[in-house]
Formats: sequence, structure tokens, C-alpha cells
Amino acid sequence: MSYRFELFKTDPHTGARLGRMTTAHGEVRTPVFMPVGTQGTVKAMTPDGLKEAGAEIILGNTYHLYLRPGHELIRDHGGLHRFMRWDRPILTDSGGFQIFSLGPLRKIAEEGVHFQSHIDGSRHFLSPERAIEIQEALGSDIMMCLDDCTPYPADRAYAAKSMALTHRWAKRCREAKSREDRALFGIVQGGVHRDLRRASAEALAAIGFDGYAIGGLSVGEPKDLMMETLEATAPLLPAGQARYLMGVGTPEDIVEGVHHGIDLFDCVMPTRCARNGLLFTNHGKVVIKNARYRTDQAPLDETCDCYTCRNFSRAYLRHLFIAREILALLLNTIHNVRFYLALMERIRAAIAGGAFEAFRRSFRDRRTEDDAGPVADGRADDNANTEEEDEP
Ligand SMILES: [Zn+2]
Repeated sequence: MSYRFELFKTDPHTGARLGRMTTAHGEVRTPVFMPVGTQGTVKAMTPDGLKEAGAEIILGNTYHLYLRPGHELIRDHGGLHRFMRWDRPILTDSGGFQIFSLGPLRKIAEEGVHFQSHIDGSRHFLSPERAIEIQEALGSDIMMCLDDCTPYPADRAYAAKSMALTHRWAKRCREAKSREDRALFGIVQGGVHRDLRRASAEALAAIGFDGYAIGGLSVGEPKDLMMETLEATAPLLPAGQARYLMGVGTPEDIVEGVHHGIDLFDCVMPTRCARNGLLFTNHGKVVIKNARYRTDQAPLDETCDCYTCRNFSRAYLRHLFIAREILALLLNTIHNVRFYLALMERIRAAIAGGAFEAFRRSFRDRRTEDDAGPVADGRADDNANTEEEDEP
């Protein structure tokens, strides 16, 4: 089955869209959230648990799988789907974002990017052609172009130069793609400069991709600037293809993203926050270690249908977290992933029923329990196992 995207409905009052992607490994209803499976696993979730939570597609990180265990090993095991026993669709990133985050360990050139492994310091080279070769070896259903992720802040001249390189690499990725049954998405760059975003959307549409991502957001810019750039960029993307906002975000960001016509999201937030005891509920964020939950016999979220909420009390979840039990990571992750996926189900139902704007308002104005403050944004891999590793 080759890839296709069908757009069923665009909300007349907002930009919200209802659609469906068909891939070599099945269908995905959009708008969709993709849990992040950095090292061939969504941390603390079994594939069956992911299905129970309603996951229709997950994201794999090419950089990590290329370094360890290696894409050739995974290819020889029948690809990432068989290796990790996940038979639904997988989207892979290009590896570029992790490499650009390596700072002094990488050097960008016209032909590609030279970098050193964060694991053992070994030297590697990733070109657009190589990024496609690796993703095809992994058996990805939706591949991403290698792009030069423009950092924030970047002045207009730098952003323009970086964007032009992204376009040349996008063309090379398109030409390198050899599997007709798999999809390839282009990535729009241009920083926070609207004219560049427009130029980038037009350049990529001219090359022609199966879908379009908005890159270079959620990289440290203020939230209102991110939303302004998103609002200006999303309508520039071809309406008949899927639109993917990379690395976003909080539940509130996702609702706003849908409002602006985004179809795909990914973020490490639900899984990483779960391991740090920060839980998303319909009453807002819960910091489970707080003393107020010590004797609380209520479920974490009485409106949630996940295994954790059906079976355990807040007092028990708090005890497990404070005692540093492994089960805390599992139960917290099951809940947070289900919360995100249930949110997407509610969003899709609201769009289908013509009630998305009302849903958006009620979500924004809902009562909140703990004031956990803002959460760091998650355009990243999900590569830290414990709270010590990724506490800011
Ligand atoms: Zn739950």
C-alpha cells in the first residue's frame, strides 16, 4: 500500500482539519499525536500498552538507532517494525536535529554534516542521501528530509542562508528516495521571519513532498512568537497534504496547533514528564510527589480510562514515586501517554461534530489543580531514563 493523505473536513470557523493517512503499515487518523520512541522503544511502554493507549503511529529517532545498534543490524532483523514488535506506522526523523544539538561535536558543510558520536566520540558523516538510506533501512513509513534546523535567535541573513541549505538538501533527499511505498516529508525553515517561511513553503512545494513539516519551532523562542510563526506558516503549506509541527508540545500547544491546521504532533513531554512525576490530567498538571496526595485515595484523573487510573490511587502513585520504584515510571507513563492520545480523540470528535472552537475554549478555561508552572519544550529525543538525567 503506498502512502496517501485524505482530508475529510476543514472546520469552517478555525483551520482545524480532520483527515487520514494511509501507510504501508496501516491507517492513521489525524490530527494525531506520535509518542516518541527514541531507542526503538517508547520508554516504559510495551507495544501492547501503546496500542491499548490508542497509539496509531510512533516516532523513531534515526540518530540514536544509527549509532546503536546500527541501522544495518535493524535492517537485517526485518526493519524497525519487526525488531521492536510494533506493526503500526512509524515516522522517523532524519537524525539532523540531534546532530545539530551536539554543538562543537558537529560541523555543517554543503555536502552534509560531520559529527562525533555522543556515546564514544567516533566520527561520522550524514548527508541527505545517507539520511534517506538509513531511514529506508529502518523501514520507516514516513521519512523526514535532512534539514538545517535554524536556531533561535538567528538574524535574517543567517536564517536565509540556513534555509537555502535546507532546500538544497531537501531536493537531494527527494532524489535519493528509492522506496515508492514510503512517504517523505519536507521541512519548512526560515526562523521567525515570515517572508522566509513563505519562501521556504513555496520552495518545498515546488520540489513536491508527501507532507510538510514546520521545523525550527519550539527551539527556545518565546511561546507567543512560536504561535505567531505557526499561524503565519501553516496556511502556506499545500492544503491537500499532511502538516506536521515537529516537537510540539504541551496539551495547550497541541490544541492551538490543531486550531491553526496542524495534523501531526510529536513530543517527549508525556513520557519524560511521567518519569519526573509530572502528570497531565483534565484538571491540569499534577506533581505527584506533593504532600497533598499522601493520603489521597482518588484516582489520578477520574475521567481517564487508562490502566493506572482504573486501578490505583494518587497516594499509591505518590508512594511509588517517592520510593523510586520502577513501577512508578510505568504507571505514570501509561497515564500521560493515554492522556495525550485521549486528548487527540476528543479533538477529532470535536472537529467531526463541528464543535472544535467550543472545545478549544473550554479546554483553555478548564479548572486547574496544581500550578506546576511552565514545562520545558520537547523538540528532542527521549533519551534520559531517570529524573536525575533530565531534570533541568
Ligand atoms: Zn489515566
